Formats: sequence, C-alpha cells, structure tokens
Amino acid sequence: MKDLTARALNQAQVRGAAYADIRIVSRMTQRLMVKNGLVEALEQDETQGFGVRVIINGAWGFASSSRLDHQEVERVVVQAIAIAKASALAKSKDVRLGPAVSVNDSYHTPYRLDPFTLTMADKINLLLKADEEMRRTKAVKVARGEMVFVRENKVFASTEDSYIDQEILESGCNISALATDMQTGEVQIRSYPNSGERQQQTRGYEFILEQRLEENAARVGEEAGALLKADQCPSYEATTVILDSSQVALQVHESCGHPVELDRVLGSEAAFAGTSFLTPDKLGRFRYGSEFVNITADATIPGGLGTFGFDDEGVGAQKTDLVKNGLFVGYLTSRETAQQLDLGKSNGAMRADGWSRTPIIRMTNINLLPGTWEAEALVADTDDGIWMETNRSWSIDDKRLNFQFGTEIAWEIKGGKKTRMLKNATYTGITPQFWGSCDAVGNEKSWVVWGTPNCGKGQPLQIAHTGHGAAPARFRNVRVGVLG
Ligand SMILES: [Zn+2]
Repeated sequence: MKDLTARALNQAQVRGAAYADIRIVSRMTQRLMVKNGLVEALEQDETQGFGVRVIINGAWGFASSSRLDHQEVERVVVQAIAIAKASALAKSKDVRLGPAVSVNDSYHTPYRLDPFTLTMADKINLLLKADEEMRRTKAVKVARGEMVFVRENKVFASTEDSYIDQEILESGCNISALATDMQTGEVQIRSYPNSGERQQQTRGYEFILEQRLEENAARVGEEAGALLKADQCPSYEATTVILDSSQVALQVHESCGHPVELDRVLGSEAAFAGTSFLTPDKLGRFRYGSEFVNITADATIPGGLGTFGFDDEGVGAQKTDLVKNGLFVGYLTSRETAQQLDLGKSNGAMRADGWSRTPIIRMTNINLLPGTWEAEALVADTDDGIWMETNRSWSIDDKRLNFQFGTEIAWEIKGGKKTRMLKNATYTGITPQFWGSCDAVGNEKSWVVWGTPNCGKGQPLQIAHTGHGAAPARFRNVRVGVLG
C-alpha cells in the first residue's frame, strides 16, 4: 500500500497540488434475511478502490477508481487536479485547512467474535428461531429477521505526512412482526431491538448474542397482535410524554445531529431536508433545551456506530460538547469549515461512504448524556402522560425545526403506572421548545448506544453509520395527535 500512496502523493505535489490525500478502502458486507420461516437473502458484497483529494489554486478536486495499480493511481491524480483547476475558476474564496495534521497510527474495532468466521447456518438458525417465536401469535402474518455485518479496512495518507490504517467491524440485527386484522385490513408492526433502522454497533457477533433475539421474539409477536385490539392514542393539545431510549436517539439524530453539521449551516450542503436553524450567530448564545439537555459528539464511546480512530481527513476521534446544560455550544466540523468559522481545529467529523465518494461532515456518535433518573422512577413520578416506544414514522422541515414523529407502541401513564396499551401514537413539536420542555433524563442504567446505519446525505447520495447514546426522557406540554 505504502508505495501506491507515496506515488499518488508525489504525483500530486509534482503537478502543483498544495495538499493531497489518498484513501484506499475495502469493504465487505454480509446480509442475512429470513421471512416467515424461509431464508430470503444471503448476500456478501466486496468492494475495493481508492479516492484522491487535491487542493490546487485554492480549490478542491476529487477522483477515484476501483483499479489499484500504479498507472491508474497516476491517471486518477491527474484527473483530480484537472477537476480542482476547473473548480478554481468558480471559487468564491481559497480553501484553508488550518494547522497541518500529521499522524502515523492504526486503529481497529475491539471485538470478541468475528462474525465473518462463523458459519451462515449458525446465524440463520438464530433468525429462524426468532421468526418461529414471533409467528406463534396468530395475527402475525409477516415475520422478518435480519443480520448485517460490515468489515471496512482503510488506509489514509496525506502530503502532511500522515499514514493511518484502520479496520472497522460492525454487527447489526433486527426482527419485526407485522400483524393484520383480516376483517378491517388494519396493519400493526412491532420491531426489536429497533424499528426498520436496525440496531447496529462497532462490535463483533457477541453484540448479536447480547440482543437475545429468540427470548424477545414471542413478546414482539404478541405486542404486534395486541396493537390491533388496542385503543387509539387520544389527542392532546399538551400532555406529558416519555420517550424510550431508541426514540430519544432518533429525536437527537434529526433535531440535533443534522442541524449541527457545519457544512449544512454554511450552505454547502442542502439535500435531504438540509440547511439548519442553528446559524453561527447562535453559537454559545442560543438556548437549545432545558438545563437537563447535554448533547455530545463523541467518536470514542465503546461500540458506537460512529466510533473510529481517525476520520477521513486523518483527524483523531474526539468528544465535543454540542449542547451544554441546554445551551448550544458546538458544531460538527471538518478542517475547512472549522477555519471558515475560526473555530480552530476540526473536531473530526469528516467521513466518506466508501472509496468513490469525497468525505463530508457526518455525525459520529451524537449522545444525549444520561441524567439522574431510574427509568421506573420516571414513570412513577408521572401522574398523567404517555410512554412512547420505537419509531414508526418521522418528518422534519428543512431547517430542522418543526417535526412530527410516530411510534409503534405507546402506553398510557396514570398515577405513576403504565396502564392501557395505545396504538398510532404521534407527537409534534418545535425543536428548541421541545428540548426546552425536557425535565428528566434516565440515568446510565437505561442508557443504550443505538446505531443508525442508514443516514442519507449528499449528492451523489452517501449513507453514513452514526451512533446515538440515549436514555428514556420526559417532556412536558407536548402536542399528541393520532395517525390516520
Ligand atoms: Zn440522518
């Protein structure tokens, strides 16, 4: 590898690049799916290639290829330089990267069981057992199970003398039961550990075993069936809502994680409900939430799906405060955007989806830090409210301000106890008011590191894997409505 990276960087410098980096990436993805007692998919993909970024005449150029040989590396460097020169004709200002980043290091995900060395039969059998358990409930018409494993190896080298190699391993799984009322045509779904999003971490197969899919499957099927007979969630102008940790994770992802991406804020990225209400004049001044709301970007937490050693600019994994005691205090940055706002060094959030895409600012692990409440005490302390669990639908506007979320299941809380099950629960809010109404957050015991393996951003589209540590949290005066 070193001769290839050295050749690329030399070529770039000889041809006048002020800066260049190269990433050589190989990624193996294995996916297993079962449906109603049958194996639906067994897939294994492998992709390998490299991407080169250069700065020349104060502008970026990027090119990539799947052919890893000296001639091709040279051709791709020439192409990246031609693109940078063309971009320079339309630049509004020169790219500034700030202080040089020079790192020689390596990182690999710690794990106990390598999922790629286990037999397909072991993994499929676990899914089939869960599938069978879910279908014990008669109303369950479609049972599904899925496992996904990813191994990514990447080398990063730059003209600032960085050379980093990393291996990231991910394991993910999900089961779901779809129940149908044959008379009315009504459909209800229950999923575990999370909704269609899957639960995924940077860990080995031990993570899958810890999820206890088989033990939870019967309950998942029963709840899907019970939802058909459950009462509709009533509508309220204002009531108390407790969100389970997975729904809090999604709430953090959509209403904090995306709006703190500095490329979005600076207007260079606006696809997929882009832009942001967290404009630079608000940094350090704007009240984002209540004093109980503390949100960090932390690429160092064990198992997080946004945990790594170094980002795709060679910047080391870090922990950054985004919201501190309710105050908005930080963005997710790249080397370039950190200079644009005079924030000093990048906090290491640049990641690319594979070798053929240029890195953009992505969430690492965006965490709502634990509070002081036992999860049971959150309920016991609530006279009148609704517990909502597992996301089913979401929508949020361009600025990430107005949102509506729906959950798979809910329970009424009366006199400090979970009572009747409710279906089709939704809630709406405006980001700072909603987080401003948060008056209690669960403690470390109920804090789970959720993984979102399908965050879309950019044109062409890039899918990022992000993590979100979260505990159940309580919100006052929330508007609750009914899904059709
Ligand atoms: Zn996203």
